[in-house]
Amino acid sequence: VNVFFRPIDKINSVIETYPKGIAGFRRYAALLDTEPDIADRPGAFDAPTLRGDISYRDVSFGYSGERPVLKSINLDIAAGQTIAFVGPSGAGKTTLCSLLPRFYEVDSGGIIIDGLDIRDMTLASLRGQIGIVQQDVFLFGGTIRENIAYGRLDAVESEIVEAARRARLDELIASLPEGLDTIIGERGVKLSGGQKQRLAIARMFLKNPTILILDEATSALDTQTEREIQQSLAELAQGRTTLVIAHRLATIRNADRIVVVADTGIVEQGPHDELVARGGAYSRLGAASD
Ligand code: ATP
Repeated sequence: VNVFFRPIDKINSVIETYPKGIAGFRRYAALLDTEPDIADRPGAFDAPTLRGDISYRDVSFGYSGERPVLKSINLDIAAGQTIAFVGPSGAGKTTLCSLLPRFYEVDSGGIIIDGLDIRDMTLASLRGQIGIVQQDVFLFGGTIRENIAYGRLDAVESEIVEAARRARLDELIASLPEGLDTIIGERGVKLSGGQKQRLAIARMFLKNPTILILDEATSALDTQTEREIQQSLAELAQGRTTLVIAHRLATIRNADRIVVVADTGIVEQGPHDELVARGGAYSRLGAASD
């Protein structure tokens, strides 16, 4: 199950000045109505430009009225690092990441970024500095330009072109008679799974967030496309604090640290070789069998 599906729409809700008249907006607006009521605290301030040092301090969380999903999580992530979360399905990896943009509020403990409790920040200023790339890319029936610009609505043409280039969408765009003005979706050109992923990546290059959350849910992409996307994602992660809900061995191996989540908590963490040598939970996961 992709519990990020709804949250990803929420993160974009910080964009309040969405241009009217773009096809698909109505449908999108309807999704926003389904948000739970997480709001700015009285006196919340706009977060400064973040470096991205993240600290989970004794965090516990359960979805309302249900058993705890996470108990007493303590986790420190240095700015710029890439952390791969692994563990059995349903262990809480996605939940752990979705607490960071405050899609859900912790029950106890707190999450600190650069020494600031995320509950003291305005949601817009927090979420504006966190980017999410997940398997289900939200596209609307506008042009490719509009769909990329969705990453940052005030972007100028040259920035959009540059984001497309970095996400390696430039070849596709060059091959289309109408280029960036090509309409996508039901009324226009249909994008492949890989192209949709690239569009999501282009948005993120444009948004340029300090913190990146990648949901690497097992995908239907062919191996070659998958490999190319991986490469773009690795470039995107450069210089950002990156949390990956990881499924691919290459991602896991290359992470600065692997965090094994199981039974409501972190059971093991460290770099790949160290965890393999230890012969503990990580090695038993069979994460080495991609
Ligand atoms: P996977 O690898 O399958 O994505 P995961 O480790 O990311 O799993 P989560 O998706 O975080 O695990 O789920 C942790 C637990 O919380 C599961 O028992 C799941 O059923 C439950 N859960 C997830 N999202 C919700 C939700 N929105 N409401 C209620 N329960 C949820």
